[in-house]
Amino acid sequence: MYDIRGLNEECGIFGVWNHERASELTYIGLHSLQHRGQEGAGIVCANGEYLFGARGMGLLTEALSKDQLVSLREFPHAIGHVRYATTGGSELSNVQPFLFKSHRGDLGLAHNGNLVNAVRLREALEDDGAIFQTSSDSEVLAHLLRKNKSSDRKTRMKSALRQLKGAFAFVVLDEDSLTIALDDHGVRPLMLGKIDDSYCVASETCAFTATGAEYIRDIEPGELITLSDDGIDFDRYTDSEKPNMCSMEYIYFARADSEFRHTSTYTIRKSLGKQLAREMDVDADIVIGVPDSSLAAAKGFSEEAGIKQEQGLLKNRYVGRTFISAGQEARERAVRMKLSPVRDVVEGKRIIVIDDSIVRGTTSRFIVKALRKAGAKEVHMGVSSPPLKNPCFYGIDVSTHAEIIASQKSTEEIREEIDADSLTYLSVDAMHDVYHSYGSRGQCDACFTGNYPIEIIDQVLPQEKDLKTKGV
Ligand code: AMP
Ligand code: SF4
Repeated sequence: MYDIRGLNEECGIFGVWNHERASELTYIGLHSLQHRGQEGAGIVCANGEYLFGARGMGLLTEALSKDQLVSLREFPHAIGHVRYATTGGSELSNVQPFLFKSHRGDLGLAHNGNLVNAVRLREALEDDGAIFQTSSDSEVLAHLLRKNKSSDRKTRMKSALRQLKGAFAFVVLDEDSLTIALDDHGVRPLMLGKIDDSYCVASETCAFTATGAEYIRDIEPGELITLSDDGIDFDRYTDSEKPNMCSMEYIYFARADSEFRHTSTYTIRKSLGKQLAREMDVDADIVIGVPDSSLAAAKGFSEEAGIKQEQGLLKNRYVGRTFISAGQEARERAVRMKLSPVRDVVEGKRIIVIDDSIVRGTTSRFIVKALRKAGAKEVHMGVSSPPLKNPCFYGIDVSTHAEIIASQKSTEEIREEIDADSLTYLSVDAMHDVYHSYGSRGQCDACFTGNYPIEIIDQVLPQEKDLKTKGV
């Protein structure tokens, strides 16, 4: 699931309190969350007296050396982060967890999501004398916490969190506690687990499988959980609760084996594929999914439509971050290197290709062309999500309006541009039906509908914010 399109900003977090292998577990947890961010990684540990951390650029295995990991070994508490940044923010200072030192104590902080009032808060904090170390919106929380004079940690935390607007899943570590907080819309996933007698937290449950932890439950919107030597404390920082979990987590971002409310993403994607089959009236010889993220949807489609699924496209797993940055030409080259058709499977066939989403159209354009070149008789595109039309302000980069093809063109115009015989998207209603059937209490669908559930106060996209805060 490497991004070959350009910008991107989902992240993964992990934390564990009071375990003799805290840093090792965090490393393993982060490794399984690598699909959520490949641009930087770090771990910050605590031992009751002070905090100590290591971080670096690139994949986890590149970012942290063996020596660094050895130096973290003795600490019983840890938090970690993998980051997939915007181009503007690709620098070590923005790699999390952040580690702050002050005479009142140390603070480690890792964030997944994007705040929509960070620019405004930051300006006010700066005018009050704060000097920011990074261009990341996540640092705002540390300053708000430090500014509050209350001697009670939870009072400080609640008051700071109440000032934040947007999407946030936070893990905050100090010498004697690990705090876990999720925004009142619950936009980003955050899961509670237990390993041996210790609690842990992760963006996705695949991190629990990898570490051997037990998945307990999804953390609720507005929840505030504190782990300390006194045990676990469940609380809320706000009474407000407006569940609006990100639809794209189900569609594309989360790993297929990760679970939400104890249902795997695989199962949900398969149902999205089934719904699409009900809405797509096309006959074909075979169904093929775009590997890897669309294979589950293709399976569901195939079962519902009664058309057999074949592996008509292969993915080269080694196409990675090298291709993230540079322009459309590089993106096209990357898709070409990443996906290739299996001639024997597709030759002479009428094919339905299932992809989970179309952003710029680069992937679909290439796939249709490649399949025709390999001898396909007909190529029909089925997309297991509705037309993606709007940018995301809540921590996922799906580009700007200008780059998003469905924001500029009708379905028929897109079909023509990608040269498919037909193009069918899943309807918004069908998508929500699937989510409700798996117990969803509310989903954000703003990138499809334009109905943003949280007011965008800064009016700045995440990928633009880095530049703004740097004054570039
Ligand atoms: P595009 O080629 O620009 O149309 O992008 C669509 C492809 O990128 C699909 O195959 C998706 O699986 C994948 N995709 C969708 N959203 C994202 C995202 N935010 N980051 C990376 N890849 C994505
Ligand atoms: Fe997810 Fe789209 Fe909402 Fe962003 S706008 S949080 S990508 S559903």
